[in-house]
Amino acid sequence: MRGIKAEGGWGVVCTEEVYIHPSSECDPLVEGRLWDDYDIPAFAKMTEAVHEHGSLAGIELQHGGYCSTNHYSRIPPISPSPISVDSYEPIQARAMDKSDIRNFRKWHRQAALRSKQAGFDLVYIYAAHGGTLLSDFLSRRINKRTDEYGGSLENRVRLFRELIEDTKDAVGDSCAVAVRFGVEEFLGNQGITSENEGKEIVEMLAELPDLWDVNISDWSMDSATSRFESEGYQEQYIDFVKSLTTKPVVGVGRYTSPDTMVSLIKRGVMDMIGAARPSIADPFLPKKIDEGREDEIRECIGCNICVTGDWLGAPISCTQNPTMGEEWRRGWHPERIEPSVSDDCVLVVGGGPAGMECALALGQRGYRVILAEASGELGGRVTRESRLPGLTVWGRVRDYRVLMLERMENVSIYRENPLSADEIFEFSAEDQFDYSHVMLANGSFWRRNGLGRIHREPIPGLNKLKVFTPDDIMDGVIVKGRVVVFDDDHFYMGGILAEKLRQEGHEVILVTPAPDISIWTHKTLEQKKIQKQLMDLGVEIVTQTNLTGVEKGKVELSCMFTEKKIKRECDSLILVTERVPNDGLFNSLNGDPERLNNAGIKTLKCIGDSFAPATIASAVYSGHLAAREFQADPQQEVPFLRERIQI
Ligand code: ADP
Ligand code: SF4
Repeated sequence: MRGIKAEGGWGVVCTEEVYIHPSSECDPLVEGRLWDDYDIPAFAKMTEAVHEHGSLAGIELQHGGYCSTNHYSRIPPISPSPISVDSYEPIQARAMDKSDIRNFRKWHRQAALRSKQAGFDLVYIYAAHGGTLLSDFLSRRINKRTDEYGGSLENRVRLFRELIEDTKDAVGDSCAVAVRFGVEEFLGNQGITSENEGKEIVEMLAELPDLWDVNISDWSMDSATSRFESEGYQEQYIDFVKSLTTKPVVGVGRYTSPDTMVSLIKRGVMDMIGAARPSIADPFLPKKIDEGREDEIRECIGCNICVTGDWLGAPISCTQNPTMGEEWRRGWHPERIEPSVSDDCVLVVGGGPAGMECALALGQRGYRVILAEASGELGGRVTRESRLPGLTVWGRVRDYRVLMLERMENVSIYRENPLSADEIFEFSAEDQFDYSHVMLANGSFWRRNGLGRIHREPIPGLNKLKVFTPDDIMDGVIVKGRVVVFDDDHFYMGGILAEKLRQEGHEVILVTPAPDISIWTHKTLEQKKIQKQLMDLGVEIVTQTNLTGVEKGKVELSCMFTEKKIKRECDSLILVTERVPNDGLFNSLNGDPERLNNAGIKTLKCIGDSFAPATIASAVYSGHLAAREFQADPQQEVPFLRERIQI
């Protein structure tokens, strides 16, 4: 994956955070490990892959400090002072004594030497976005020491300074020694701010590192989603850094626009553009700029599906780039794909993310493709959902694909063409539509009867109230009076509809059986922001509560534990529970093998939400996978490589 980024033109390709010692473990989060010599060869493979394309390789050496839960190593976490770990885990960190500090410096030095041995060109000292032992030492909230490592800012910075000096001494002859530092913690006087201590720390260490990589804390602020922040959101906090140092400065801010990047350099805000998510969504972003193909950049939509993999302990995935995380295990490349093996034509029915991606990848393989979409606009759920508050940028999933599809001579797009089974059978005989394969990407629709995780039978009495689904709201149906949104979906939809309806002036109660509203958005780093936004707007939030009944003008709500019931007034009930796959067309076609045969249709496949409703990322992936597997060699029993322990 990192070799491909180098091939895509990134000047420096860095690892994620790499833990330097077993006392720094954040499982199940997936981070790198450089604990001893045994870990060197894996990193050497990365640096070789990066160097092959002429880029530099950087490693972000890190210790998680009191945020390390250490479930794997079972070593008590270490911290400047004895405090509880930064989660609800029943664990407390112990205070480091002088020998612990000496040991930490030794581990870091050894890790730096191992990094050099693995072939890295840049070695990072990491004190960014919280959750690092160095930021713990810098923080007056966490560091309560009374020795020379605590108290004054000079003292709190001491270990940071020592680590930079140690690393320069160990590997500075051939590696650049970079620091990553979070200049703003959004904790006011209790934390580092870009106006006070953040600035003072940069001033104190200004010329010591070879590179300043600066950002904001915590991770949810650093990796803010497009729902809450737009491109360049970090600039106002980091723009002072260049005035305090002659060393090069790099920063991030979900930059995908070449014009913005040029402007940052020209205005002297930074010397290099840093990017994690933009390089995930399009590993070839720099090359596309270099070759004057800016319009072909697959821009990150700021949805943080990539972040969810970390919390899930699963390989990374991306909404925009279905090949992300599949480079090694499936051999996928973001810019190259196996060529076609026949002259066959494929009909793709449905122009949502699954259908568009399938048509695009088949077209790139060289197949002739007909893409039929029922409505006048491509994009499916992406087009509909991107009209909801805060989701405009998600429209890029459609825009990139429409642009690429419209440029392909072997792809024909037919909008306003809702196809029935009869038409699919009949049209295949016509010369202009000589397809012999059909991919069905018909999407899904939201249930109107309450079925979902909590109700495995329909909610009784729904005919007594005006009941709406997210589809109704996205279709612009007028909702009247007091609104109850019942969210048993738990991702963004329930919260966003509550926000929209409240903004339109309704009294809104958001009810969910879960302990938190929009609970899955913890994994996209958004839950707290969503909750704050809804509370600020005046949406009433009712958690751990089920919707058990409906009567005229009222809903019955029931405590998830005691089943104690209360009634609340309600004129309009919005059910955000579960989706139904739109698989009727597939079933009709699949149920008539004789007619399929007579029509010359050799293969039929159902993809995306019409196969199994899930995220937009899953729909894009499903479309891409179907195109890759089309007329390809049969899959192995396990269709991807996996890491194995050699015994
Ligand atoms: P997915 O996420 O799986 O791509 P979407 O719901 O986003 O699903 O998109 C499905 C698309 O398929 C919608 O744009 C819808 O208009 C279109 N569609 C559904 N049925 C048909 C059909 N019979 N003929 C053409 N287009 C269809
Ligand atoms: Fe950007 Fe979303 Fe892809 Fe992450 S998953 S890189 S946020 S498009």
